[in-house]
Amino acid sequence: MFYFALKDIKEGTIEKMQGELGDPNRISTRGEKIDEVKVPSELSGGVFPVNLLANKYCPTNRDFFLKVVKRISQPLTWPSYQGRIIHKLCFKMFQSVEAYVLRGNIIQKANLLKYAQQKGQRFIRELTSDIDRKTSGMPEKPSKTMKDNFLTNLSKLVRMESETVSTFIDYTIATNFDVEVASEFRRLFPFQREISLNATPLGFSLGVKPDFIYSRGGSIVIGDIKTGEIRDFHKLVLASYALAYEYHERVPVNFGTILNINLSNERNVPIYKCTETVVISDKYRQAFLKLRDEKFNIAVIRKDPGPPPNKDVCTECPYFSHCGGT
Ligand code: SF4
Repeated sequence: MFYFALKDIKEGTIEKMQGELGDPNRISTRGEKIDEVKVPSELSGGVFPVNLLANKYCPTNRDFFLKVVKRISQPLTWPSYQGRIIHKLCFKMFQSVEAYVLRGNIIQKANLLKYAQQKGQRFIRELTSDIDRKTSGMPEKPSKTMKDNFLTNLSKLVRMESETVSTFIDYTIATNFDVEVASEFRRLFPFQREISLNATPLGFSLGVKPDFIYSRGGSIVIGDIKTGEIRDFHKLVLASYALAYEYHERVPVNFGTILNINLSNERNVPIYKCTETVVISDKYRQAFLKLRDEKFNIAVIRKDPGPPPNKDVCTECPYFSHCGGT
């Protein structure tokens, strides 16, 4: 997560986005216009988690049918396990660094780099202590080498996040004689993590939780952490969070970022290069609402939409072992 603040400061991401947006009134599909964005009355009655509504892994939405109508849980796969660990590691590192900085009186003895790295290593040990048990039930089990590589690569994420945050904080302390570290931290890393939104008329389960909210210069960016390949529908996930936020807070959200984190044996740092920040335009908002209504329709009529004509997509689907695309 600290990487996103570094990127914004270095590349002026928010300013670029403000320029790209121009007039915010260009976006008319807003969460607070509830009559335009609520679930149509003939489909209403249920609520579902954001990811279930906005993800589009299966071209016919059969994965939604299996989960909601057949009540078959999505099996844990090796890619989804790695994604969960990376998510949790990022959040835990942010939380622990924030607590350290907000503790106060750290100017004389601050060693944030050492603290963050030690905490990060401890989190890796805790989060992956049951890796063998978790992976033993997977349809396609990772080899010992794959697991060892993953654990090694997690340390690279800890190192870069620790170095990023500690460099900024050390710079601040070194440059200012009279510095209030906690407020500098909030200014440099304007993340909000623990928000919970209520937007049930839009079809979302209670407690919509974006990965993070980043606010600078009066602009809000909804953040979603993704590992693996970036997919087109990830922007619909951002749109769904923006609509939920606008409904709950009555504040417009114009921007979203897919913070793409990948780990590679070929690099000694994480790979963030596919991270993308976008204007959450009407195109994504309308596409999300259309997909949401298709899925609500499946929940109402309870009919199997069947497999897609091109079953190539099925081999990477978590439901492959249940469904196989047939
Ligand atoms: S295996 Fe294929 S048809 Fe079945 S849910 Fe997955 S993508 Fe859809």
